[in-house]
Amino acid sequence: MNTNLQMGTILIDGKKVSEEIQNEIAEEVKQLKAEGRKIPHLAAILVGEDPASQTYVGSKVKTCEKVGFNSTLIKFDSTVTEKELLNKIKELNEDDDIDGYIVQLPLPKHISEQKITEAVDPKKDADGFHPVNVGRLVLNLPCYISATPYGILQLLERYKIETSGKNCVVIGRSNIVGTPMSILMARNSSIGNCTVTLCHSRTKNLKEHTLNADIIIAAIGKPDFVTADMVKEGAVVIDVGINRVTSTETKSGFKLKGDVKFDEVAPKCSFITPVPGGVGPMTIASLLKNTLMASKKEIYS
Ligand code: NDP
Repeated sequence: MNTNLQMGTILIDGKKVSEEIQNEIAEEVKQLKAEGRKIPHLAAILVGEDPASQTYVGSKVKTCEKVGFNSTLIKFDSTVTEKELLNKIKELNEDDDIDGYIVQLPLPKHISEQKITEAVDPKKDADGFHPVNVGRLVLNLPCYISATPYGILQLLERYKIETSGKNCVVIGRSNIVGTPMSILMARNSSIGNCTVTLCHSRTKNLKEHTLNADIIIAAIGKPDFVTADMVKEGAVVIDVGINRVTSTETKSGFKLKGDVKFDEVAPKCSFITPVPGGVGPMTIASLLKNTLMASKKEIYS
């Protein structure tokens, strides 16, 4: 990655912001402990041996410990039945000590992700995937916001990026990133008030849309998809993509790439997130924030 950005381009440092948020949460946990109040407790369910899922869940649990939360990792073989998983979810819903929990996706094909997501108590839905939380998000009511979009909101807020009245193009309409992101950017809220265009694989003339965008949020899952000719001068570019590509530059033989062709796009931008180190670290920070809110019963009593 070219870190010699042109004068005027600001690199959004998600790693730094995530650490700041973690430090703030750690301070709050210390305070809770000092007052003899409940320590937030996040549980994570991991099914199977998918290496990426193991890494994600591992770092979520580690970060919980770092900020002083209690954490519980629940592992199942990939042969676990849907019923067994639903029983565990019921148990977590009824366990007063667990404030929030996540079920790491994807799940094996024989288990319905929708059924599992809907079985999670919305009050403990630290990932913000439950239809009740998504519905409340649409209505601009207090809710747990899906972790990645929530992380992006925090980046925009902490970098004081003006969003009101701007044209925002979100590329990708997944339930966990693109769709909630598009709704959040259009909400009547301090970060929001954009005119939003939600693009996807059937969008015609994508470039016409992106060239009109003051803010581009790319959540596609295709390395280097957004190129310089698609971006107008001074745009804010948020790259959600995490794509594993083979590389001769690293020992492991692969590296992570975003959905944006960083080297050529960055010089045109006012702000841009790198990959890695941009949106990625914020997802965990959001998960912690949601868990802290759950433990303090800030959203639901
Ligand atoms: P999905 O695969 O669920 O969705 C991808 C979206 O991109 C779909 O809506 C699809 O359109 C759209 N798309 C695909 N091809 C094109 C195209 N040629 N033109 C326009 N749109 C296109 O992905 P996710 O939202 O789950 O993830 C997106 C990326 O973000 C991935 O790289 C993922 O790894 C990463 N990610 C990163 C996170 C983080 O913490 N930083 C968290 C979650 C995801 P259609 O609906 O028509 O198929």
